[in-house]
Amino acid sequence: PLALLADPSLLKTDALLNGEWVAGRDRFDVTDPATGEKLVDVALLGAAEAEAAIAAANAAWPAWRSKTAKERGAILMKWYALLVQHADDLARIMTAEQGKPLAEARGEVIYGASFVEWFAEEAKRIYGETIPSTDNNKRFVILKQPIGVCAAITPWNFPIAMITRKVAPALAAGCTVIIKPAEQTPLSALACAELAQRAGMPPGVLNILTGDADSSIAIGNVLCASDTVRHLSFTGSTEVGRILMKQCAPTIKKLSLELGGNAPFIVFDDADIDSAVEGAMISKYRNAGQTCVCANRIYVQEGVYDQFVHKLAAKAVAIKVGNGFEAGVNQGPMIDAQAITKVESHVADALAKGARVVVGGTRIGERFYTPTVLADVTSDMLCSREETFGPVAPVFRFKTEAEVVELANATEFGLASYFYSRDIGRIFRVGEALEYGMVGINTGLISVAEVPFGGVKQSGLGREGSHQGIEDYVETKYLCIGDI
Ligand code: ADP
Repeated sequence: PLALLADPSLLKTDALLNGEWVAGRDRFDVTDPATGEKLVDVALLGAAEAEAAIAAANAAWPAWRSKTAKERGAILMKWYALLVQHADDLARIMTAEQGKPLAEARGEVIYGASFVEWFAEEAKRIYGETIPSTDNNKRFVILKQPIGVCAAITPWNFPIAMITRKVAPALAAGCTVIIKPAEQTPLSALACAELAQRAGMPPGVLNILTGDADSSIAIGNVLCASDTVRHLSFTGSTEVGRILMKQCAPTIKKLSLELGGNAPFIVFDDADIDSAVEGAMISKYRNAGQTCVCANRIYVQEGVYDQFVHKLAAKAVAIKVGNGFEAGVNQGPMIDAQAITKVESHVADALAKGARVVVGGTRIGERFYTPTVLADVTSDMLCSREETFGPVAPVFRFKTEAEVVELANATEFGLASYFYSRDIGRIFRVGEALEYGMVGINTGLISVAEVPFGGVKQSGLGREGSHQGIEDYVETKYLCIGDI
């Protein structure tokens, strides 16, 4: 698949350190999840290169922060244009290493690029404040200054977007960045970095450290322990988020964390059922169910339960599963064997406790899982407590609004939630009562660059996107000027 790139020089397999491509002493394999075959090998870096990247990012920082916001924005805008221009190649690279269907991969490239555009514009709007003085002899001025060297550790499910929505605000604010992409999907990150180089990003401003699972831990250790790195942004599991938070405690590092979710998707009696089914399809089966905002628990009010399950199953069974490069395929492989095992264990547990399979429930070969709908699901089942991260829609039955709000909130997670209703009073009541960072109402698709994405409770800290997305990358400084 990678032989067909229009611009083969986008296929980078070395890491980017201080503006130079580094082959590393060792290499690790990147595989195609659809076939299990090796695609290429990539530079395997470790603690020493992480130290070097920190030094390079720190050395590049003064000149980068001294550029005007407009100058930084102009480089980001060029980067954005190149990402869009090369969207087809970037999509091919992503499908090859991540598995999602080509059209979906292209969608992610455009979505990922939109964060670069948005923050290129926002660079010019990082305003400070003046505060009316309490003393005629003094003036109070508030500055917003870049926090410094930032580190980003990103997951495989959105190999480009999870990088751009951290890196773009950091760069816009005047910070320099070190990225450690997921070991499964370094090629997308490196291709984006190549385009950033072409856009005129100065050496050391954007560094990419690639490594396998073990060296990711070693690199993570160095990034967390460094006093020079002032901010860590992480998207991934809550479990790893906790480890990183602990590792960052000694240096009191600022943290942005986008962790796991357990999204409820509620369909009330008064909903437009066809629209709710449409929303559930998008929210549940996108990326083979491997997103942190995927509907994980679908609650349907008893009066419309059978109708909803029937309609959802009819749509789910029509999803074409296969290699993401094949025309017409709308669900690719799972990322790895472990992902399939988790899905299978959730389904087996649900069946053992009384749920039934309406459609799906089977593995196809080693790497694919059929889009599944489970009915008669109850709260004692594993899939109601843990993120399944696969194409399984467990449908629960409920009676009242109060009951479902309680069920929906009965989790330590609080990222995305969804509900369908046509009653304006209920829309406000439930929208306010759900303990989540994001609520999709009569829609299954909520994320764009213009809005704040993030969670409450153990789903994380901070918000990405929107004007708020800059906040994590700037420090507030108060100047008190006397003797006026
Ligand atoms: P997922 O479940 O999506 O694979 P993880 O939380 O395991 O999510 O991984 C997300 C990112 O965190 C990846 O880039 C991975 O390499 C990195 N990672 C995992 N464990 C550690 C660790 N102990 N220290 C630093 N980075 C880690």
